[in-house]
Amino acid sequence: MSESTFHREKANLGFFGLGLMGSRFLRRLNDEGWKIRGWNRSRSATTLALRKSGLEIDETIASLARHSDILLSALADDNAVRAVYLGDDGIFAYLQPGTTILEMSTISPELSALLHQEATKRDANMIDLAVSGSTPAVEVGAVTLFAGGEQETFNRCVPIFQSIARQWYLMGPATAGIRMKLVVNLLLGVNMEAIAEAVSLGEHLSLDRDVLLDVLPKTAVIAPAFSGKFPKIKKGDYSPQFPLHLMSKDMNLVQDAAIRSRAAIPAASAARHIFEDAATERGELDLSAITPYVLGLAVPEADDHQEGALGQKQNKLPTAI
Ligand code: NAP
Repeated sequence: MSESTFHREKANLGFFGLGLMGSRFLRRLNDEGWKIRGWNRSRSATTLALRKSGLEIDETIASLARHSDILLSALADDNAVRAVYLGDDGIFAYLQPGTTILEMSTISPELSALLHQEATKRDANMIDLAVSGSTPAVEVGAVTLFAGGEQETFNRCVPIFQSIARQWYLMGPATAGIRMKLVVNLLLGVNMEAIAEAVSLGEHLSLDRDVLLDVLPKTAVIAPAFSGKFPKIKKGDYSPQFPLHLMSKDMNLVQDAAIRSRAAIPAASAARHIFEDAATERGELDLSAITPYVLGLAVPEADDHQEGALGQKQNKLPTAI
């Protein structure tokens, strides 16, 4: 690697937000030989487990921000990112000039643009680095990264990308990575909801659900991202990889982006409502729990012949995982 790229023996990395994704990225980068420390808002079971495995977890944003050459973050949503970056005791209050920020949360392009501006004001370099792929892909370093920012900063970070991802793309200038992520998550949401409807239709057509769930992923119409969901749906295992509440949050971001850009997205708008309703019930379950949710929708008698009936809620999501 040339001198113009980051080296694992020299650079100090700091990871903010140690949830499902962040904790795994932290472990992965540590295992790949990077000098890395983490910070999380709460002392969750995950952070305790990370400490037990010998990983360093800082108590304050200030200490980690001051100590790191490269800051990474995977935070829940716009509110979390605002709090961690822009709060009185947030990252920007302590950021050193020359620091590189790799912001990996799925947030609005508007907030991402604000972070880029604040980073530039402080002579820091920022890449919005959206992640496609869930927790199993993070564990084996096989996610896809969509970046937005300067080519030079992107090039300098390639050794980090190589440690966590299978492929990485500079999509364009600031916020292009997050804009691409919204495009991809429109497909994720609509497809997952369509799979739920397909399983429901199959059942209503008296197909054996287990056989249907075995055969569907063998067909060309199921994208690789969904093939792992079928055995889990079959077992009724909805332990979260990508939780329903985050999918619902992303469908709201997609909807906002479509409204602002005047793009027509009728199917995604319908899917957004369904995710919102399902997330209200058991938002912590995996997004594949949209399947039992849709199976529980009943078409009212009077609407039996009405094309496109959305259905009414009848039974519920599983009460236990
Ligand atoms: P998660 O497990 O829910 O973790 C969320 C993290 O955000 C936790 O560290 C949480 O801290 C922190 N947080 C929430 N509200 C906060 C606040 N107000 N102030 C400070 N910290 C706050 O979510 P995740 O699955 O890791 O996802 C992280 C991001 O990556 C999200 O934007 C998500 O959309 C995106 N993403 C997720 C996946 C996936 O498959 N899971 C895939 C691609 C992208 P506490 O522990 O204190 O609550």
